[in-house]
Amino acid sequence: MKKYNIALIKGDGIGPEIIDEATKVLDAVGACEGIEFSYQEVLMGGCAYDAVGDPLPQETIDVSLASDAVLFGAIGGEKWDTLPREKRPESGLLRFRKELGVFANLRPTNVYDEMVNASSLKPEIVKGVDLMVVRELIGGIYFGEPKGRDENRGWNTMVYTRPEIERIAHVAFKIAMERSKKVCSVDKANVLDVSQLWREVVIEVSQEYPEVALTHMYVDNAAMQLIRDPKQFDVILTGNIFGDILSDEASMLSGSIGLLPSASVGAKIGVYEPIHGSAPDIAGMGIANPIATVASASMMLRYALGENSAADRIDAGIKETLAQGYRTRDMAAYDAKVICTTSQMGSMIAQMAVEWKA
Ligand code: NAD
Repeated sequence: MKKYNIALIKGDGIGPEIIDEATKVLDAVGACEGIEFSYQEVLMGGCAYDAVGDPLPQETIDVSLASDAVLFGAIGGEKWDTLPREKRPESGLLRFRKELGVFANLRPTNVYDEMVNASSLKPEIVKGVDLMVVRELIGGIYFGEPKGRDENRGWNTMVYTRPEIERIAHVAFKIAMERSKKVCSVDKANVLDVSQLWREVVIEVSQEYPEVALTHMYVDNAAMQLIRDPKQFDVILTGNIFGDILSDEASMLSGSIGLLPSASVGAKIGVYEPIHGSAPDIAGMGIANPIATVASASMMLRYALGENSAADRIDAGIKETLAQGYRTRDMAAYDAKVICTTSQMGSMIAQMAVEWKA
């Protein structure tokens, strides 16, 4: 029996409800695959402020760093919006990512066949989309110096160093090796010096992955191609600001915020979380869609723990549950046969994942 220690941060709003479904599915799949999970729950966000007066208690950082991975729900809510900036839930999350040194943000977008009508694009364009944006998260123009403003000018600096580009490129190529072995590096090398270095270093790193086909695309073209023909992409590797924009654009291909997972990884430890927030408007009603969080647990198995077979099982469980017409309320308009609660959806996915035969 393999054992893993998972730090659980349920957070605020729908966070506790969706995390409970993710652990339900993890435990069910673990039992089939000979894996035991030991969870340690720690506080972050508004609930942490209410309990101890700090949105990110030191214990949360310590427990997370000592674990094999962090599974995270969502934080925030109106109740805490009027607090001073450093006491707000969002400040806790930013500080958390920095403390953990997570430099790579991974955002997969896959469009489930049963949900093609939920996208704002035509079904034939989005059917079969399965791509991953690998975004550099703690460098580039959001952090570069000098930056500042006076009354008449504002300025920021886009800077990347060779080691920063190398480490994010390795993440992208390793992921591509697990997928269909294609990386498209997105930059603006026709205009920006920093992008010329980016391109040079990515090409160098690619020599270590001879099986992976590397292409390059300018960011303006990439933004257009994502809408024109998203199926041409597998792994998109890009810097902080380009990735910020492209990953949001890509997430809309799937049509529903309640479906998409993400991971933020670094040298130390990874944080696995849905892309949506704490949805205070539906908290406690038992109607939140847990799929993004369950899919985040699958990413955790694949990327943090190397448990690909268990991850495949969860992914198959989600697909089969959707194929059989189970929908939470947010997806009710798309070929629903049964409208289910958060907990029923988690139980169905767990059951389908357990029954799945590779
Ligand atoms: P949100 O993502 O929480 O909600 C936007 C809309 O989508 C709401 O109508 C909500 O009901 C719906 N929704 C979101 N997730 C859903 C799910 N799983 N199932 C069904 N419906 C779902 O964004 P928001 O309303 O802008 O923000 C609410 C709070 O969340 C704010 O305090 C914000 O700061 C915080 N937030 C946190 C994170 C995070 O923890 N990583 C990310 C974004 C926003």
